Amino acid sequence: MDRRLWASAALNVVITLAELVGGLLSGSLALLSDAAHNFSDVAAVALALWARRLSRRPPTPHHTYGFKRAEVLAALANAVLLIGVSVVIAREALERLLYPTPVQQGLMLAVALVALAANVGSVLLLRRHEKDDVNVRSAFLHMAQDALASLAVVAAALLAHTPVGLYVDPAAALIVVFAVLRSGLSLVWETLSTLLEGAPPDVSLEALLDDVTTAFPGATLHHLHFWQNGPGQRLLTAHVVVSEALDGRAIECLFAEIKVFLHDRWGVAHATLEPEVTGCGETKILASWDEERSP
Ligand SMILES: [Zn+2]
Ligand SMILES: [Zn+2]
Repeated sequence: MDRRLWASAALNVVITLAELVGGLLSGSLALLSDAAHNFSDVAAVALALWARRLSRRPPTPHHTYGFKRAEVLAALANAVLLIGVSVVIAREALERLLYPTPVQQGLMLAVALVALAANVGSVLLLRRHEKDDVNVRSAFLHMAQDALASLAVVAAALLAHTPVGLYVDPAAALIVVFAVLRSGLSLVWETLSTLLEGAPPDVSLEALLDDVTTAFPGATLHHLHFWQNGPGQRLLTAHVVVSEALDGRAIECLFAEIKVFLHDRWGVAHATLEPEVTGCGETKILASWDEERSP
């Protein structure tokens, strides 16, 4: 899969260079904004590949979780970059709306068409593996959005010589920037949630508890923690009250079943369960830090 991501990055380098030169020569801000956007895409893919390599390194005595969080940090850095680029271009576009500058239509259209073709190529490249991997899926969605942005630039080029032509170029730039800003902000939100030990966004803790309680009526969970180390690596810890009648071996069997259940139905890669018979005094689902400090 990495090879496809590399190929998509290489395509993006070509688009970026073509749009940068074409944008400067034709005076089209829409092209330049798309160039900046595609450049940030290259950075994103390079960052993702580097982070993925790092995240595959096994845990060490000092980093017992391994390096999965590197992917989250890389995504956050990328999002900040995207937002920075968007703000610069949006400012320029607003200025152009006030003081319109003519663009060179032929060159702009040619480059925009090349960019559109390359973006569509990228989409096709990533489409086949779209469902396998959340990173590839997000890259795919992103490329699809890029193809739409390129289409907007093509439309702006076609309209360049109409009476509204002077305003279409910065307007298209704003549309491109708006899309980038939106994905940048949602990426910041998502990564910050992970860094704040948030539960996976698509999971409701109540639903998970209901599910476990229904499947294992003999086990009552409290003091639950549920978080993710990085994309696709979910962790859970809980206290579990079990019947006094169970011996150690029976508890081990029960917990093994619960762990398989959590893995298969809720994607929990790493569950740590603490058995209790009389109970630790806590009954709430969520732990409170004060209680945790006492023995
Ligand atoms: Zn993009
Ligand atoms: Zn407890």
